[in-house]
Amino acid sequence: MKILVQKFGGTSVSTEERRAKAAAKVLGAVKENYAVVVVVSAMGRRGDPYATDTLIQLAADINRETAARELDLLMSCGEVISGAVLAATLQGYGLRTALLTGGQAGIITNADYGEARILRVDPQEIYRELEAGCVVVVTGFQGATEDGQVTTLGRGGSDTTAAALGVALNAEAVDIYTDVEGIMTADPRLVQDARILDVVTYNDIAQLAHEGAKVIHPRAVEIAMRQNIPLRIKSTFSDTPGTLVTNSQPHRAAGADMFDDRLITGIAHMPQVTQFTIDISREADKPKVVRRIFKSMAQAGISVDFISTQLDTVRYTVKDELADKAADILQSMNTEAKQLPGCAIISLVGGGITDVPGVMADVAEVLAEGDIEILQSADSHTTIWVLVAGPRLAEAVRMLHDKFINPSGR
Ligand code: ASP
Ligand code: MG
Repeated sequence: MKILVQKFGGTSVSTEERRAKAAAKVLGAVKENYAVVVVVSAMGRRGDPYATDTLIQLAADINRETAARELDLLMSCGEVISGAVLAATLQGYGLRTALLTGGQAGIITNADYGEARILRVDPQEIYRELEAGCVVVVTGFQGATEDGQVTTLGRGGSDTTAAALGVALNAEAVDIYTDVEGIMTADPRLVQDARILDVVTYNDIAQLAHEGAKVIHPRAVEIAMRQNIPLRIKSTFSDTPGTLVTNSQPHRAAGADMFDDRLITGIAHMPQVTQFTIDISREADKPKVVRRIFKSMAQAGISVDFISTQLDTVRYTVKDELADKAADILQSMNTEAKQLPGCAIISLVGGGITDVPGVMADVAEVLAEGDIEILQSADSHTTIWVLVAGPRLAEAVRMLHDKFINPSGR
């Protein structure tokens, strides 16, 4: 049996017209003799009646402290509704369908409500329905604990469902259908000539997703990567090939990008972060102060990013919305902390930069040309991060894109 997993995002199932387009994709795969497993997100976006955010708001309006277990049951309804609606649509086209919740589909998770991790997938029920000739529709974003409690997998978790099923069923591919044409080299709202990537590696795309590119959940990429299941990011509303995510670097033979030797695959950004700079030069016991700073952030549930500790200075960023809380804590510790709100982290991601001299030199040159200050920088073997002031973000991304991705320019 050759199996294809097709995942449809919230905007792909939000109206009758759009569901017809989604159904056409399913019908197309059935015609090609695939056994099809469809994974759905909740319909629409914030404000739409059955969108995940709307359901969360429903509970929050009553009680902000609603228990996580109850909240998970509530949130899981969004995908149940869209699953039922899409199944009804598919039946209208003459397909036989079997609608399964995450638990019924055999997705077993831990009991970490709201952020549950998939422990394993028992796909017998899916196989049974596929063998009976059904298109199996699975509600995304959810699973169940060993003892049957409904859990959700964290926001954006329908991608995770699709990838996990792709791996469990050893699918030929997992197609992530969305409302954009694929993964782009940068946010098109910032960079007019950003373009769709034909092929990217799991590593590059996971990195871009972690750094703020929103097209796919990084956890889904990491799961698919383990078994080398190809992921394809495509538009529900067109027939373009989209972006193929796979293990190998792009090469011409696959009809891929002409960029065998590209250094930077894409540029992601994360706005609205606050940089803290803490002067510890006058502290008597520096290791202890460093420990206290990070421990107190952890205890307050504040995730720190872009961490750089030096002999006399500790620097890190937090999300703007957590900055006041972090500042209060630092003040209560009598530290000398400076706070710079509204910054943005730019990430240049590319497996090709490893051991290549001059990449940072080019970054520095481009930003110097634009008179854009680098507030902080860091690097790994596949990524260079720079922190810039928020108002300079768009310009910085544009200039870096011109340099590294579209050197021929406009
Ligand atoms: N509906 C869920 C969310 O909004 C899961 C998803 O769409 O992937 O987070
Ligand atoms: Mg999603």
